[in-house]
Amino acid sequence: MKSFKGNKAHLPTKICTTCKRPFSWRKKWEKVWDEVKYCSDKCRQSKIPSAANKLSS
Ligand SMILES: [Zn+2]
Repeated sequence: MKSFKGNKAHLPTKICTTCKRPFSWRKKWEKVWDEVKYCSDKCRQSKIPSAANKLSS
C-alpha cells in the first residue's frame, strides 16, 4: 500500500454564483456538492431576492 500525499490538488472546484470566484470542495459539502452554488453563507444570502421587488414601490 502506498500513501498518497498532496491529493488536495484533486479537489473539485466551482464558480460562485454570487461573487463569480472559484471555490474548492469542502468537507462540509461532501453530501451536497452537486447542489452547492455559493462559496459561503454570505454569498448565499446576498443573492437577489425576487420576492422583495414587489415591495419596493
Ligand atoms: Zn461567493
